[in-house]
Amino acid sequence: MPKSTDFYINGQWVAPSQPNDFDVINPSTEEVCATISLGGQADVDAAVAAARTAFESYAYTSKQDRLDLIRKVLEVYKARGEDMAQAISTEMGAPIDMARSSQVGAGTWHISNFIKALEDFEFERPLGDHAPNDRIIYEGVGVVGMITPWNWPMNQVTLKVIPALATGCTMILKPSEIAPLSSLVWAEILDEAGVPAGVFNMINGDGAGVGSMMTAHPGIDAISFTGSTRAGIAISKNAADTLKPLHLELGGKGANIIFADADEKALKRGAIHCFNNSGQSCNAPTRMLVQRDIYDQAVEIAAATAEATTVGLASESGRHIGPVVSQMQFDKIQGLIAKGIEEGARLVAGGLGRPEGFNKGYFVRPTVFADVNNDMTIAREEIFGPVLSIIPFEDEAEALAIANDTEYGLTNYVQTQDGAKRNRLARRLRSGMVEMNGQGRGAGSPFGGMKKSGNGREGGVFGLEDFCEVKAVSGWSTDDA
Ligand code: NAD
Repeated sequence: MPKSTDFYINGQWVAPSQPNDFDVINPSTEEVCATISLGGQADVDAAVAAARTAFESYAYTSKQDRLDLIRKVLEVYKARGEDMAQAISTEMGAPIDMARSSQVGAGTWHISNFIKALEDFEFERPLGDHAPNDRIIYEGVGVVGMITPWNWPMNQVTLKVIPALATGCTMILKPSEIAPLSSLVWAEILDEAGVPAGVFNMINGDGAGVGSMMTAHPGIDAISFTGSTRAGIAISKNAADTLKPLHLELGGKGANIIFADADEKALKRGAIHCFNNSGQSCNAPTRMLVQRDIYDQAVEIAAATAEATTVGLASESGRHIGPVVSQMQFDKIQGLIAKGIEEGARLVAGGLGRPEGFNKGYFVRPTVFADVNNDMTIAREEIFGPVLSIIPFEDEAEALAIANDTEYGLTNYVQTQDGAKRNRLARRLRSGMVEMNGQGRGAGSPFGGMKKSGNGREGGVFGLEDFCEVKAVSGWSTDDA
């Protein structure tokens, strides 16, 4: 076992260049559960140097070798599933059963889908019959800096590390300092799987330190970032002088448009989806737009669903939701609930303070506001807690206008039995994803947003392309072996 204060650089566990301890807090107990180090410039420089050197050979490995490596990563990831679930549950508060199935499972799903996408991926393609001596070469973008959030740790890490491994990139990962334990396990997994030294490096640190050092670093060719829109803007500015490409996966404020003819489970399903992971998902359907005819019923069902959603310790088995991740998030959510009340939304479930029976831990009451209008703060800002806002609408045109009236554009949802209406809305909603009638997106479907939700596309073949440069070659010899 490495020390939790160590970093993984050039295939070795190494101590930070300077000690800079940082406590990791278990959000269920508010107690320190581990201590990590926050890195500095010398650590970032060492990781970049290792990744640059490794790129010279790793970039030219065969697709078959990289496929074999990723298959091995998947095998070790599955074998370490319980360690990973415990790490995630402890660091960010996902209840242990949910950590095992959804949090760890998301990683398994992405790695498996990338293997399928890579099997069929052609790195060298003809331009077309009209230009027989042209080739389009897809090649890894180079040394990639990866910065990830705490809410779905392995979901985000696998969506970045695996396509980088697949396309011949080398990398430096900086996980969230709030939830770094899963990435310590992840680095052990890659080490055990035999990832060559320098290909994958991991440094802990915060955004102002290691994060900023990475985004400004001239030795890093591209940044893949998932996190808040605030940090995405800061990163864009900080990376500008080096003109490196940025893949940004940012916040969301998804609308769930529920028409009067929606299937009978749509209302309950929408509320449960909002509260999942204690509301800490960028694609959570937090604005429930309900057609006037079923509005009263919707408010009743959403409130009943909130009341039936139990809250409990992350370490306990069961289908409850856990705490939110930190004191800072708890305070932010409380502030937004207060704002909702102050601005005149009707509180129909939950509200301020911890749920009954809790006097510590960052536990939030599953909360529902009715009679919200789209100008209220709770309809505009990403709350990132179990808080649902219900907004009435009259017809399709009004629903579309409300849904698109946001600075975000990640996932929107539509519930209606009218297929033509569903498709019309799918075409006109300004978001990277539209999920309809409770049907999840298929394997290899691209994840990403429009507007202030970012610009990257992660997962499957789209995710592989996001880690590639596209090179146009003319005069290509057709005699090439
Ligand atoms: P955050 O932006 O505070 O932090 C994310 C990561 O960025 C952390 O590793 C942090 O240390 C780092 N960071 C912060 N400021 C930085 C800076 N100036 N320069 C470089 N790095 C910096 O976000 P969070 O609170 O960890 O995560 C929640 C946010 O992530 C939410 O807004 C959520 O919507 C978003 N998110 C988006 C997606 C998506 O795919 N679109 C997925 C999950 C989460």
